Amino acid sequence: MTAKQTAPFNVKILTLFPEMFPGHLGLSLAGKALEKDLWSLETVNPRYYATDLHKTVDDAPFGGGAGMVMKPDILSNALQAHLPLGRFIYMSPRGKPLTQALAQELAGEDLLTILCGRYEGVDQRLLDAYKAEEISIGDYVLSGGEQAAMVLLDAIIRLLPGVVGNSETHDEESFSGGLLEYPHYTRPAEWTGPDGETRGVPEVLSSGHHAKIKAWRLQQSEALTRERRPDLWEKYRKKTS
Ligand code: SAM
Repeated sequence: MTAKQTAPFNVKILTLFPEMFPGHLGLSLAGKALEKDLWSLETVNPRYYATDLHKTVDDAPFGGGAGMVMKPDILSNALQAHLPLGRFIYMSPRGKPLTQALAQELAGEDLLTILCGRYEGVDQRLLDAYKAEEISIGDYVLSGGEQAAMVLLDAIIRLLPGVVGNSETHDEESFSGGLLEYPHYTRPAEWTGPDGETRGVPEVLSSGHHAKIKAWRLQQSEALTRERRPDLWEKYRKKTS
């Protein structure tokens, strides 16, 4: 897949599985934004730049051990054929954690190149030579960087101007202000669940009193964060006290 690279936000993905893209990023909000050229996507398959008959992209690790390592020479050939790279990211379980603040920061870039690892990962020299920024989507190991890249991109794309209708939407979302989001309710005003219990909606939400609604939501956000995420709560408390 090639891209026009004229969108406000452009992405190049190095992957051995280009057919995985755009995947779910071609649907819903991200898909509509792709159609509207609010972002662009180009996939690059390093295998195309392999020089031997078998199109080899990996080799056994020096020092022995299980698995294979992606070759620096082949990856570099692929990268050099697709300059400029913009901010160069390697999806990696040992990277810095993906946070809303990082997604927000990356949404301000106009070009990202994302390397998706496979096997045991990538030769360290390639990462050093290209000053790769390593990003992790969580403390678990996936079999490839493709899903991780999609998670990263999904988090970024919904922050791009024009992708989500109301620009204020993000202000109260989980993590944006350091808190988890408050609970939501919609019609019907009374609903009987499979447990036979009829549940209403907190009265204040139907009051039409905006200041009271705002205060209730903040109080709910604070209570949820304190209960579920003491780490976030501690940071928030320090920031606001
Ligand atoms: N040997 C590596 C380790 O233990 O850190 C794991 C390699 S993993 C099987 C293959 C690729 O999946 C990685 O190179 C990386 O690109 C991607 N990957 C796996 N888990 C990830 C995570 N939590 N966040 C981001 N990328 C991940």
